[in-house]
Amino acid sequence: MGVKEFCSYCGLRLIEKSFGKRVHWYCPKCDRIHYENPLPAVAALVLNQKNQLLLVKRSVEPAKGTWCLPGGFIEIGESIEEAVLRELEEETGLKGEIAGVVDFFSQRSRHYGALLIFGYRAKILGGELKAGDDAQEVGFFDLDALPPLAFLSHQRLVEKEYYKK
Ligand SMILES: [Zn+2]
Repeated sequence: MGVKEFCSYCGLRLIEKSFGKRVHWYCPKCDRIHYENPLPAVAALVLNQKNQLLLVKRSVEPAKGTWCLPGGFIEIGESIEEAVLRELEEETGLKGEIAGVVDFFSQRSRHYGALLIFGYRAKILGGELKAGDDAQEVGFFDLDALPPLAFLSHQRLVEKEYYKK
């Protein structure tokens, strides 16, 4: 279960209650189930002209100091594709365009709970490579010499796209 504690309608403390095989947060006063949903996250897979993969070194927890794909959470009011391109630009300074879907899947994260991951191929249109939000470094890496990636989901996307495992 997640961290939801209080009813957003009446403020009462929620309880965990079984409904069939599932357990949900429940407000006994409002007689209302408070559903929890996976968080949607995106990642961008971007190659340069030398066929090197764009990675960012994280400057924040979780996994501070390790490399990962540019990415983050989808915000209210933007599409999946807009989130990919926004995160790409915020973290790396590069403007891109969507070039295709790599994969999408569910994942349970130690840090964020249930996630939905959407991996997209993107092409660079312009901008200037520089470490931005949440990144202390950005760089391009040869596909046969990638550093360990911070997240299993990113590893899975990279393997699917470049190693066809
Ligand atoms: Zn309530």
